[in-house]
Amino acid sequence: MNGIIFDIKRYAIHDGPGIRTTVFLKGCPMDCWWCHNPEARDDITGKLAEKTRTVSVAEVTREIARDRIFYDQSGGGVTFSGGEPLAQPDFLLVLLEFCRGQGIHTAVDTCGYAPTEDFERVSELTDLFLYDLKIMDNEQHTKYTGVSNELILDNLRLLSQKGSKLQLRVPLIPGITDTDENLEAVADFLSRLRGVDGVSILPYNRFGEDKRTRFKLEDRLGRLPDQSRADIESAAAKFRLRGYEVKIGG
Ligand code: SF4
Repeated sequence: MNGIIFDIKRYAIHDGPGIRTTVFLKGCPMDCWWCHNPEARDDITGKLAEKTRTVSVAEVTREIARDRIFYDQSGGGVTFSGGEPLAQPDFLLVLLEFCRGQGIHTAVDTCGYAPTEDFERVSELTDLFLYDLKIMDNEQHTKYTGVSNELILDNLRLLSQKGSKLQLRVPLIPGITDTDENLEAVADFLSRLRGVDGVSILPYNRFGEDKRTRFKLEDRLGRLPDQSRADIESAAAKFRLRGYEVKIGG
């Protein structure tokens, strides 16, 4: 079986526990205004999509197996990211099966927007979900990401009920996701779930902005104000107050 990827990053330390290999799968059903990985999208061509390639399962598993010793020593493993890894569910499943067979820890970094039956299948073979929650207000969510958040919240509830391990990731986009109202709503929603191991607050970075300028992509966001340390700490405090272990950054 073949799949399409746009990168494989070795020695990653921000994509889950320990030292990891992160496989970036092409494709994403969302269209976030701040997207920092636009090369994941199917409609992107030209220089930005240069690294996109079709690979066989054997090629990826060979790459994964190379760093086995580092995973074992550091409590690491493999992270499947994107884009949205569940945009290629069968390819993802075969890779997860390989890792399970080898006893390699797996994390799936997901935006949550994929058919629920695919989450059911993937959850059986995934040790940890890195699950993005962006905006709780559905109208705002649709405006800034191109899709409703209902499926995302339903899938998160399902994973929680099934006992999956969950690390929530909240990207802080100035004035959009980092408002007190939104962060309180995210924290309230989480507090009704079980299985949430921790929360990662992802401070705003300008990678997306730079790529939009460099590759002349549509820019609906413009230049956002800088985020202060105090803004980031105040966001983290909302989750700490509810008893979550909070990491700042990956
Ligand atoms: S979910 Fe991630 S990869 Fe997809 S559009 Fe949003 S930021 Fe980009």
